[in-house]
Amino acid sequence: MELRREVLEAEIVYPGSERPAPTSVEVRWDPLTAHTARLVGSPPGALFPPADPGVLATLAEESRASCPFCPERIEQVTPRFPPAIWPQGRIRRGRALLFPNLLTYGQYASVSVYGPDLHALRLGEFTPELVGDNLAAQVAFVRAVLRHDPAATWASLNANHLVPSGGSLFHPHLQGTAGPFPTTFQRLLADIPAERFADYLATERRIGARHLGATGRAEWLAAFAPAGPAELRALVPEVAAPAELDDELLAELGRGISAALGLYAELGFESFNLAIYGQPPGHPLLLRMLCRQNPRPFYRSDVMYLERLHWEAAVDLTPEDLAEQAGDRFRS
Ligand SMILES: [Zn+2]
Repeated sequence: MELRREVLEAEIVYPGSERPAPTSVEVRWDPLTAHTARLVGSPPGALFPPADPGVLATLAEESRASCPFCPERIEQVTPRFPPAIWPQGRIRRGRALLFPNLLTYGQYASVSVYGPDLHALRLGEFTPELVGDNLAAQVAFVRAVLRHDPAATWASLNANHLVPSGGSLFHPHLQGTAGPFPTTFQRLLADIPAERFADYLATERRIGARHLGATGRAEWLAAFAPAGPAELRALVPEVAAPAELDDELLAELGRGISAALGLYAELGFESFNLAIYGQPPGHPLLLRMLCRQNPRPFYRSDVMYLERLHWEAAVDLTPEDLAEQAGDRFRS
């Protein structure tokens, strides 16, 4: 498998200078989808300034008084599943609590909090148990939906964390969806021959510079052509759909995601998106997660014309530097 990258060079005359000086940008092609990414050299922190603890504390405090996911309101203001799907109405696993999403992004859509009493969590505070239990609640949801409606085979588990990621509620949570059609990206992935995923893993394992290790049955990578800041991927070759995740794999993904969020915290990020894509039988389950701009007053969105309309991210942290920073945290 070829991992294609090209460095494009030109010249500009900088202010205060009379002589042309070189500029460069690196373009990379994703080995799975051929999506391109741009690695730009910018002064550290110029594109993505680090999180401001004061802003986070203010957001936590201001949202708490009316938060629908906090213990004093959650039972009254969140919906329940009908008995045909889940007789108890809401799904509990450990401290996690799952209920239907009022915003029906999917035919079947869920929201699950890590805990009603966990209104504010810094990324370094998502323990393996909190993440594993929340994923387990989502897996119980997709299994219940499948028993109720066998046509709802396309499922995904997702996260928006903090406003820059699209999360409208501050209280940390996951979202699940299931229905009869793939999303655009699930369709793109489903069209890739299954062998290509194995080839991708084998290639990255051989090169080593972006292969972060295996936590057990899941292998973690820094994305070669990231779709956003610090994109990480996990592939689980043994399963294709979230409904197939057993207790051991849920605990393992809980450890992996917890480690990834700890890495993001170390890098100065506090907002992220995550997707675990259900795929057709024979394909590996794929997890992708990336950082978003930190919340700050009048912030610059990290999604500009390139990301939104050209489907191509501009990032200033190289995947190899990300892997270096990750160290051994994904090696069990
Ligand atoms: Zn809350």
